[in-house]
Amino acid sequence: MSDEIRLPKPEYGTPPGVQHHVCEHHGCNKDAGWGFAKPKQASHWFCFEHRAEGEHYL
Ligand SMILES: [Zn+2]
Repeated sequence: MSDEIRLPKPEYGTPPGVQHHVCEHHGCNKDAGWGFAKPKQASHWFCFEHRAEGEHYL
C-alpha cells in the first residue's frame, strides 16, 4: 500500500465540468471513486475505505 502520501490540497473550487470528487467522510479528503445517488438527488462520493457510508444514501 503506497497511498498514504498526504499532499496539502489548495482550497479552490472545482471548475464546472471537471470530474473530481473527494470523499465526504469528515476529515478524509481522499479521492472518491465511488458515487452514490438516488434519482433526482445530488450524488455523494466516498473513497474505497468509506464507500460503505455511501450506501446509506441509496
Ligand atoms: Zn474516505
